[in-house]
Amino acid sequence: SFYIKTPYSREVVAMSVLEMHANILDTLLQNRAPQQLPGGVNLILTILFSLLTIYVVLNVRPLKGIGILAGAFLAFILATYILFALGWWMPMAHSLIAIFVCYYFFIPYRLIMENRRSWEYQQKNRLLTQVEELKSNFLRMMSHDLRTPLARIQGMANVVLSDNNPLSDTQRRAVETIYRSSEELSNFIGSVLNLGRIESKDIKLHLRSRDINSLVRDVVKKCEFLARKRGIEIRMELEPMFSFKIDEDLIRQVLTNLIENAIKYSPDNGKILVTSEEVEGEAILQVADQGMGIPQEDLPHVFEKFYRSRNARGSTVSGSGLGLYLVKYFVELHHGKVDVESEPSKGSTFSITLPMVMDTQTRARSREGVQYV
Ligand code: ADP
Repeated sequence: SFYIKTPYSREVVAMSVLEMHANILDTLLQNRAPQQLPGGVNLILTILFSLLTIYVVLNVRPLKGIGILAGAFLAFILATYILFALGWWMPMAHSLIAIFVCYYFFIPYRLIMENRRSWEYQQKNRLLTQVEELKSNFLRMMSHDLRTPLARIQGMANVVLSDNNPLSDTQRRAVETIYRSSEELSNFIGSVLNLGRIESKDIKLHLRSRDINSLVRDVVKKCEFLARKRGIEIRMELEPMFSFKIDEDLIRQVLTNLIENAIKYSPDNGKILVTSEEVEGEAILQVADQGMGIPQEDLPHVFEKFYRSRNARGSTVSGSGLGLYLVKYFVELHHGKVDVESEPSKGSTFSITLPMVMDTQTRARSREGVQYV
């Protein structure tokens, strides 16, 4: 009992009791004793630490939260040591205990909240998937069912137009309008069906060796009727090239969409140029028109689903905004790319680039969920 014991160790250390008393006396005489900070400071700090812990536990991500609390914990200890060196002392226990108590008290509450949120997300997700499936099924069924009566309307309009009995001008115009509108509707239904196939990942790429130039000629021939009615001339400059593997139906759809767009957005009596060439193992096809063009700020968006640029929206030209989305999707399935250059009131040029050799790596890199047949 002659020696004093430190609170950290049961070993007898350093000072004798006499030395300690001498020390205390010396401190008093020299007025070197540390002062205790007012009790209010401790209370305020404890409250602040409690609030900080509650906020962190309830709102911050777990790892970041632990980082913040550990930082606050260490900063507080450091601050009390520095204060002590300056002659002030402050009890640390209340604040540190407040951190632990608040942490363990509020953590279960946070866990329950998180669980409930993730359960709600799951429910919402399941519902969304079901709605999406229902929507796709509905669109697919409706489009199929609409096609048959539509084909009948077109057929009947054709019969009336080619009948030997002469029609009055008004009758002829009316039947022609019926024919044209049903064709537009049929194209739209075709696009919606394609979109449905894309969304349900139901596209099979049937690759066959084909002469792309004869495909271009074929499509141009089909579109000529539409062009001639508005006095538009379609010119072709096709560089001879070897056949290569493509999915004929999809590329036919791509070319049709591009050429029909060029006609749709051209003024009467305009000119359209369709070219093909081979550059370093790639086939480059271009469709250039002298139509209304596309504003620069709309260019990055024209290949998006259902996007129509403002000049198209403001004009009488009808459309669904699906054509270029399908173009891009089908070209990318072939691991090709699409580009557009355009200047308002001067015209637009759409280019597609298709690799002439699709090696196994290229196929592997193509979009997921596509089957090569
Ligand atoms: P839409 O059915 O509206 O034609 P697309 O997907 O085919 O839909 O085209 C998207 C938009 O790109 C069109 O609304 C139009 O604004 C613009 N666009 C496409 N082709 C041309 C073109 N040749 N000239 C001018 N604008 C075009």
